[in-house]
Amino acid sequence: MQRHHYTALAFLFLGVIVSAIASRDFLSMRAPDVLYPSRFVTKTGMLSGYCPDIHGTYGDTPVYYFESGQPGATILLLGGTHPNESAGFIAAAVLVENVRLAKGRLIVVPQACASGFTATDPLEASPMSFTLTTRSGERVFRSGARGGNPIHQWPDPLVYRHYPSGQQLSGMESRNLNRSYPGNPNGTFMEKNGHALLQLIKTEKVDIAFDLHEAAPEVMIINAIITHEKGSDIAATAVLNLELEDLKYSLELSPKNFHGLSHREWGDSASVIPFLMETSNPIQGRLRGATNVNLLLNGKDKFYSIASQLTNVRITYEPDGEPLSLRVGRHLQGFRRLIESYNEQHPDNTAIVENIPEYHSVIERGVGNFLK
Ligand SMILES: [Zn+2]
Repeated sequence: MQRHHYTALAFLFLGVIVSAIASRDFLSMRAPDVLYPSRFVTKTGMLSGYCPDIHGTYGDTPVYYFESGQPGATILLLGGTHPNESAGFIAAAVLVENVRLAKGRLIVVPQACASGFTATDPLEASPMSFTLTTRSGERVFRSGARGGNPIHQWPDPLVYRHYPSGQQLSGMESRNLNRSYPGNPNGTFMEKNGHALLQLIKTEKVDIAFDLHEAAPEVMIINAIITHEKGSDIAATAVLNLELEDLKYSLELSPKNFHGLSHREWGDSASVIPFLMETSNPIQGRLRGATNVNLLLNGKDKFYSIASQLTNVRITYEPDGEPLSLRVGRHLQGFRRLIESYNEQHPDNTAIVENIPEYHSVIERGVGNFLK
């Protein structure tokens, strides 16, 4: 063998080592997150119960049921529609591990887009996981991508044609759960996921549903409650009540001609009243600096601090940052006030969810304190 053969072999060997380390990291994201349901969870199931086609796929995901035994409204809450929006997933996990139902039913799907938890978005440098300190030790949770993992639905089309409207969006949106509704039982991997969730809503006769999200501080819908037109009165009362406790929210109506979104398609396809909430998450923003677990947990970024002081830039960013505890606290408080508002307007069909952690105590004690 000549010298350049040895060089080639050395590089090949180096390549194998790098691939081995990378694949170990990639595969580690397939290990499911562990939740410890409250003893008031009366039943656990899987989403495939509503669409057998997704059984055994990375689209299947746990569903937690709280049944009070007292007739009343059925509430659904989704976290993890976009797995890189960690406050939605963690708020759902907090509910699963804490609440009890005094009236009606609550169904929680903490990781609605399970596939998206198995990868991160390329070129974003996003952390794959984060650690929260609980009363009894540390727990690790995954932070994934915005859409489903491309290996579960490949390749992306050049143009994504929404079913059944025919609306055209960029190809990568074909893996976005929140562009997939109402879904299609004979469609793509993500359309089946969307179909399964809408089947859950129809089968369980859900009255009021929540889809928890986050977005970059520069996005216009930050701190908004977005609802279908049939939810506008409920949302308006909730926004006023939240304002009274110094929590600013805006009320946005779901555009009638923008298809595929939960707040549009759930409301159009079923009797449910849908609500989507957004919090401000700098790790998703274009202005952010170092992208790491610290930013995910503390939401503190010097470039957003500077931008928030400029008068000609519209940024929703707290001077002390947007920590995960604050973002989860907002989701929980919005959830609480919207249910109260629903109950006021539907006195003959109410639901009572007890033990939802209070906004201020989540911030003061840290969200980890509300996980087992
Ligand atoms: Zn989102």
